[in-house]
Amino acid sequence: MSRFSLSQDLGIDLGTANTLVFLRGKGVVMREPSVVAKNKRTGDIEAVGSSARNMIGRTPGNIEVIRPMKDGVIADYDTTAVMMKYYLKKAMRKRSFFAGKPKVVICVPSGITMVEERAVIDATKQAGAKDAYPIAEPFAAAIGVGLPVWEPTGSMIVDIGGGTTEVAVISLGGIVTSRSIRTAGDNMDEAIVQYIRKEYNLLIGERSAESIKQDIGSASVLDEERTTEIRGRDLLSGLPKTIEITSNEITKALQDAVQNIVNAVKETLEKTPPELAADIMDRGIVLTGGGSMLHHIDQVIGDETKIPVLKTEHPLDSVAIGTGKSLENIEHFQKNPNV
Ligand code: ADP
Ligand code: MG
Repeated sequence: MSRFSLSQDLGIDLGTANTLVFLRGKGVVMREPSVVAKNKRTGDIEAVGSSARNMIGRTPGNIEVIRPMKDGVIADYDTTAVMMKYYLKKAMRKRSFFAGKPKVVICVPSGITMVEERAVIDATKQAGAKDAYPIAEPFAAAIGVGLPVWEPTGSMIVDIGGGTTEVAVISLGGIVTSRSIRTAGDNMDEAIVQYIRKEYNLLIGERSAESIKQDIGSASVLDEERTTEIRGRDLLSGLPKTIEITSNEITKALQDAVQNIVNAVKETLEKTPPELAADIMDRGIVLTGGGSMLHHIDQVIGDETKIPVLKTEHPLDSVAIGTGKSLENIEHFQKNPNV
């Protein structure tokens, strides 16, 4: 029985943009946006996940759409706890009826305080976990992409998420040096909104900006320039309007955000002990997280650091996979709760 229930333990990636659940023995069983829609009058939760996300920028006055961890910290703890419980319960239904309470390895944004982390662990237990073990995000990401984290060799991981970019150098099962900045995917979306407002007097929503970024966004100029249409509200006439925008313009809009990420990588390299820096030169820097899907971000980081840069195959899943793989090493996390 205990061996059977062991295979039903869970890993959770509580990300600023997406929450994923990994079920041991099955893999990633749930991917949902970290979004909650709340009724402002009654306080009732109207929707969680994708259905709440579809409401962004489209709500009537009484409904509020919240991204409780938007900036990498828990801006709204109660809502985070409600969301986490909702997802955990949903994932638990995918487990065997006979499985006991699961152990849960949970990855939370690195900006959160000890008190907030404690609170997330309590919420996890309230949702039915036997025990919950926190894991540092870059460490989970590194495990997830298959870096040799336990070996005496330096690995560098750069996880570009929604709210934060985490850069870390890992060796011998621990984080040697790391940096977390609040420049990532959300910031890029905001930069696109600002750019279009300034250049075209056109107001567009966050969601539209995000799809432009995903569609034609690039960290440096594309060999073949691309264009797309955007709809928004003309600030002069107040009426809806459609314009065409080029990938080169989006590259310009994203320049500062990309530079901040490059700088975070460089600053982390400067703090890296020489032996480990040499390992990273050999093995390369590994990029993951949804933001790493931006075209040419690998090239720009490679050009500026003169180190090879590799993208991962499943950038949105690597942290969840890492929490899942680390279920096998749970004793390590019990002994070193803060890796
Ligand atoms: P988090 O771990 O913070 O929840 P994710 O790793 O799930 O974040 O990544 C979400 C971010 O990735 C969002 O900002 C999203 O816009 C961005 N993203 C997803 N696909 C692409 C793409 N093709 N190009 C650029 N950014 C992308
Ligand atoms: Mg993440």
